[in-house]
Amino acid sequence: MALFSRLHDRRYCAFCKVLRRVYVKKHVDVTNVVGAILFSTSLAYTVWGEPDPRGLVIFCLFIVGSEFFVYARWRTAIKCKMCGFDPILYKKSQALASLRVREFFNEQVENPEFWLTKSPLLRVQKGIRQNEKKAIEMQIMARRSSLPQSKSP
Ligand SMILES: [Zn+2]
Repeated sequence: MALFSRLHDRRYCAFCKVLRRVYVKKHVDVTNVVGAILFSTSLAYTVWGEPDPRGLVIFCLFIVGSEFFVYARWRTAIKCKMCGFDPILYKKSQALASLRVREFFNEQVENPEFWLTKSPLLRVQKGIRQNEKKAIEMQIMARRSSLPQSKSP
């Protein structure tokens, strides 16, 4: 357990290679434990007027709640907001991580706010739209060429 652990750091996404700022603090550190001791001791003195074993229970609940909060914050922040890639899920199942990125892509394509970001997925979506546009143009050209030529006056 470190005395002080760094809260933020800049990391590259392994999938879209975007540099982003993420929470890197994964567990509570010594300062959190000292804070919980001070908090539970002062609360025990305030409520019961003397050191009380119930203060130890408050301390344990506080530490468990802090650990849960810090870990949940780290876990949600580790997922890339630009592409939806989750490296923890990738370690467990590559297919599931791929599916999540695809779901994220399909959801965000409909989101107008996402089009204002610098996500590399937008390049992919622009390519898909250009291919669709070309396919429609080819269909129109094919129909025009198959129609009988009208006689000019
Ligand atoms: Zn990413």
